[in-house]
Amino acid sequence: MALEKYIRDIVDFPKKGIVFKDITPLLASSEATSECLQVLLESLNKQKIDKVVGVESRGFFFATLLAQELNAGFIPVRKPKKLPFNTISASYELEYGSDSLEIHIDAIQKGDKVLIHDDVLATGGTAKAVCELVEKLGGEIVQLNFIMELSFLNGRGKVKEYPVFAVITY
Ligand code: 5GP
Repeated sequence: MALEKYIRDIVDFPKKGIVFKDITPLLASSEATSECLQVLLESLNKQKIDKVVGVESRGFFFATLLAQELNAGFIPVRKPKKLPFNTISASYELEYGSDSLEIHIDAIQKGDKVLIHDDVLATGGTAKAVCELVEKLGGEIVQLNFIMELSFLNGRGKVKEYPVFAVITY
């Protein structure tokens, strides 16, 4: 199945000059979602995973599905002040300024095998911040996987210590 046809380009979203890759048509199709999930699972080659970390908010969809299939726990990484318990945070650069992400301090145990999932790898700033959070808690990163990689932004360059997989590369 050509999963590309379930990704919709939205011109000038969220601001002028950006072509946003919209995954909602893919999520709206149970066949496409199932196929995408299988491709993500196969990329892991049956490696053991204890925790799947999903990144707010579009990373949550497939991260929860992956966690269930892998018999692993789902761990949310969220924008500041959204998580209710004690957190640690990591910041990352944006085009103008910076932002940060948080994880619960008890989300990952030392030595846990961790899969990180988000919908899109763009510049890699988000992914790098998530890696920092996971490693601060003692997790071992097995893979970072994405539905899409915008390879012209070279996000892999920011996380080159880790295996990276994307279902669709632009
Ligand atoms: P990065 O930090 O790699 O530059 O950006 C990745 C983050 O921004 C991801 O959390 C992703 O959800 C979001 N993002 C950036 N560009 C797009 C896009 O074109 N489509 C979608 N769905 N998300 C994007």
